[in-house]
This record gives sequence, structure tokens and C-alpha cells, in this order.
Amino acid sequence: MSSNSKKHLGHTARKRFGQNFLHDQDVIHNIVAAINPQKSDFLIEIGPGLGALTEPVADQVDKLTVVELDRDLAERLRHHPFLNQKLTVIEQDALNFNFRDYFESLNLTEQNGIRVFGNLPYNISTPLIFHLLTFHDLIQDMHFMLQKEVVKRLCAAPNSKAYGRLTVMAQYYCQVMPVLEVPPAAFKPAPKVDSAVIRLVPYTELPYPAKDVSFLNRVVTQAFNQRRKTLRNSLSQLFTAEQLEELGMDLQARAENLSLKDYVSLANYLFDHQDLEEK
Ligand code: SAM
Repeated sequence: MSSNSKKHLGHTARKRFGQNFLHDQDVIHNIVAAINPQKSDFLIEIGPGLGALTEPVADQVDKLTVVELDRDLAERLRHHPFLNQKLTVIEQDALNFNFRDYFESLNLTEQNGIRVFGNLPYNISTPLIFHLLTFHDLIQDMHFMLQKEVVKRLCAAPNSKAYGRLTVMAQYYCQVMPVLEVPPAAFKPAPKVDSAVIRLVPYTELPYPAKDVSFLNRVVTQAFNQRRKTLRNSLSQLFTAEQLEELGMDLQARAENLSLKDYVSLANYLFDHQDLEEK
């Protein structure tokens, strides 16, 4: 069967669910080795699909929870010949899944946190990462297959095109490490883009804590909404030029020139001066 065939293991891939199934055993092996599942880990897979990662991970652990939106695939997994004892199948949109409620409902003792992984549907990967970051305090680590462009954005350093809101917010919460690159041929059907796997490890102590993260979100969103403008202009609704200078910012710099630390100091300044009349 050609790698562009939509049919894999008797299932016709659904484009709207971002279904590109992994079939390259070396790639699968390398991803599972990077996850390095331990027997008693509390693992959640997003988008298990036909089980390419689910099966080898489940082999190594006592139990595994999977969140799958496609009703047919969820049903297949519930009847999986040898995994059904280990699997908890949650048929839901991962974007709406409340990881906190689920984690608390299990009343686990001696738990290191959730380990999340998945070959994510690329159409929702960025909002899904933002969603997961809100549960950073519960998560031990995350391993995701993503579009290579998204991995580049997550790992980017300031002063580059790839550096943006996703970079700053992911690096605020997590240590970010690229793991491996994956060519289109590793999937059925083959996607049009290159892919890569990333590891995100939430900090137990944030290196640059914001006094209120909603202020950080606001500053970062505002700056990158107009990323081609100078800070003086892009942040003019939040700061006067004098305030930016007081904070040591170069008024001619652009959003991509600020470090995470700069963004946090802007957010904390805003937080400290919230009672004063906004400009
Ligand atoms: N893990 C499988 C693999 O590696 O072959 C499938 C990966 S495929 C790229 C993405 C999977 O996520 C599909 O099974 C798809 O049905 C599922 N999916 C798509 N949107 C989803 C969502 N919003 N919530 C949960 N699962 C979703």
C-alpha cells in the first residue's frame, strides 16, 4: 500500500481529525525510548488512533489512559485484543479535557504527576499545547510529535522569526528539548510537512515567575499581535514610552527581541501599577 493511501489497518484516515498514522517501526521505537515509560507511571496519550504508540507504551506500564475524539477509533481501542485491560479510553476532544478534574478523581497517592504524550493532530496542536500549559503543575513531562515548524517555534531563541507567543509561554512553564526529526514517509497517509518530536518538562520552580500570569499573557499577546512594530507602538496601550525606558527596554526593539525575563518584568510592572490609571 502506498504511503499516501488513506487506509491503514482497515481504517480510513479522517483529515478533519488530523489523522496521519505512524507506521515506521524505527521511529516508533525511538519515540517510545524517548518517553521511557516506567511501570507505575501515570501516562495519558492524546490521539492514540490505531495504537502505534499506545501498544509499545502499554507493554511497559500497568495502566494507560487515552483521549481520542474519533468515535470509531475509541471503539476499536475499547475492544483491543490485549490492551483493553490496561486502557482507560476517554472519548473526548482533548482541547476540552480537564486534566485536573481527571487527575483528582483518581485519588492517586505517591504520584509524580501526569506524563502526557501523543502524535498530535497538527490542526489543533498549538491550542492544545496552550491548554496543557494551564495544567503545568500536574504534569511531569510531555512528549509530542508536531509539525517541525511548531517544534522550531517552541525551541526558538529571541531575535528569530520562529520566536513568538507560543515560544514565550511554553518556555515560561517548561524546559523545552527537541528529540528527533521525522520524515513524512513515517506516516500513513504521509503529511505534506516534516515532523519532529519534542519533550516539554514543566519546571517545579519557575525560573522567572510572573506575579500574575494573566498579565504576562496580556503583554505577550499584545506584543506579538503586532510583531513588526516597535515596542513603543505595539505596547502603547499598556505602557508609556517613559515606562518602557524605565524598565530598560529599547523603544526601537520589536517583540522578537525581548527575552522571557523581559516579558516577565513588563508583566510584573503592569501588575504592580494596575491600580494606577491605565494609559
Ligand atoms: N497516535 C496515532 C499514531 O501515532 O499513529 C494517531 C496520531 S494522528 C496524527 C492524531 C490522532 O488524534 C487521531 O487518532 C485523531 O483521531 C486524534 N484526534 C484528533 N483530534 C483530536 C482531539 N481534538 N482530541 C483527541 N484526539 C484527537
